[in-house]
Amino acid sequence: MDNKQKVAEIIKVFDKLYDDAECTLKYTDPLQLLIATQLAAQCTDERVNIVTETLFKKYKNVHDFANADIAELEEDIRPTGFFRNKARNIINCCKMIISEFGGEVPNTMEDLLKLPGVGRKTANLILGDIFGIPGIVVDTHAKRLSQRMGFTKSDNPEKIEYDLMEIVPKENWSKFCHQLVYHGRAICNARKPKCSECPIRQYCDYGRNSM
Ligand code: SF4
Repeated sequence: MDNKQKVAEIIKVFDKLYDDAECTLKYTDPLQLLIATQLAAQCTDERVNIVTETLFKKYKNVHDFANADIAELEEDIRPTGFFRNKARNIINCCKMIISEFGGEVPNTMEDLLKLPGVGRKTANLILGDIFGIPGIVVDTHAKRLSQRMGFTKSDNPEKIEYDLMEIVPKENWSKFCHQLVYHGRAICNARKPKCSECPIRQYCDYGRNSM
């Protein structure tokens, strides 16, 4: 069975287990997802959701963030870690959204990548979840699971993204990555994967080798 066939079988299992898989960051508009995703770097989604619950009441739109006092914003987002960089990027990102994109979050990879603090992971998440444009989101779970399953030999997120693009059907790109996150949290944990109870073990290199 080649990797494309394995992915097809895994998708069948995932669609039963995690059919409603979606981004676990809470947001109500594109800008909130963009900011929440930036805050999620090196931080859990749960912690980000706690911080943004208050943050999005205080800063209601792109202008509020663009005009924020940086020291105050740093304090507001401090629990998410790397708060100095994140605050600077968020303010500069919102300034650019206003000056270059008419106050709206752009909808192409090229434009999203121009925004300070936005890399391919964030851009693909925005494209997939906001604009319905398929994107492979390589976060820590997608990276770990792809490596264990044998779908990539790389450590580089961009290379992993392209490796997955080759074997995952395009219409599944966004959902499959959300499903990898769900599976990573439920069964394929970073420290101790529960291979003996994993329903996709037969399609996974690491799982088969540990039998
Ligand atoms: S078999 Fe083990 S390593 Fe492979 S996906 Fe399942 S839990 Fe992860």
